[in-house]
Amino acid sequence: MNDIHAKTLVLDTHIDIRWPETPDWTQETRQLVDLPKMRQGQMSAAIFIAYVPQGRRDATGHAQAAARAEAMLRHIQARAAAPGTRFCATPDALEACFAAGDTAVLSAVENGYAMGHDLTRIAAWRELGAVYLTLTHDGHNEISDSARPKANLGDAPAEHGGLSAFGETAIAEMNRQGLMVDVSHVAKSGMLRAAAISRTPFVATHTACVALCPHPRGLDDEQLDALRACGGVAQITAVPAFLKAAPPNGASQADVADLVDHIDYAVRRIGLDHVGISSDFDGGGAVAGWANAAQCEAITLELIKRGYGAREIGLLWSGNFIRVWRQVLRFSA
Ligand SMILES: [Zn+2]
Repeated sequence: MNDIHAKTLVLDTHIDIRWPETPDWTQETRQLVDLPKMRQGQMSAAIFIAYVPQGRRDATGHAQAAARAEAMLRHIQARAAAPGTRFCATPDALEACFAAGDTAVLSAVENGYAMGHDLTRIAAWRELGAVYLTLTHDGHNEISDSARPKANLGDAPAEHGGLSAFGETAIAEMNRQGLMVDVSHVAKSGMLRAAAISRTPFVATHTACVALCPHPRGLDDEQLDALRACGGVAQITAVPAFLKAAPPNGASQADVADLVDHIDYAVRRIGLDHVGISSDFDGGGAVAGWANAAQCEAITLELIKRGYGAREIGLLWSGNFIRVWRQVLRFSA
């Protein structure tokens, strides 16, 4: 294995899990991420996602969503019962885990729909170890407009025109509780409003650059600039449709070089300190050459080929994300 890769804390900030029938992650599975594949590819740390699909925005829908998020967070935490793994809910724990040679398990919630109107969920999720909350998924919710409204759920193109008043209160509470704000999936209007009001830097945990590939899930230059202005990080992700336009009548095909093109672009636009890496494995991510957790070294090798050194690669793989996380926790303390 390449020496730089072997010495780098390789953190993947967005990985889905199968739910509710989850295979034993300590064995080889058909999932793109399991413990044997992580060890093979030296993925040091994985943020597994308690993903809540958008449903009806009523009391029953919100209660079911909250229950699912909490059950998934408990499941993810329990994954770290496996020998040689640790559940990490702070940057110090993550760095100690890496130093000890153990594999780090982290969690986050995707879709603020799961809180309905209940701000107390934020402290509860943080208590369960969640690192961040992705404010929306596909479809508007009580917090914000989504980058991809769901017409089948009755969404208009825009609902709040950005964040709702509740959404602004929710971000203030997340800042207070030390739960990072993730603006992936959020409409541009909501993302820019979050940049204006968040008291801490925030992240886009799985995104790409619209300048290279027009897609509603990517960040355009104005958004990248806003992310830098607030001190945040754009985690470039391995979803082919975000990276490379599909050929006529075909599906997007992307490879490691395409993904690193987006990293290069973001680094040139907003600086090395504001860019990171994620896979979205088991949630639609996977590119040729980085098709599962066993192949993480391919990203490092491509970065080396393009002139990045050990320090830069460390910042991209985890250093920048950890810096933002520390700032968020310091603010909340
Ligand atoms: Zn997502």
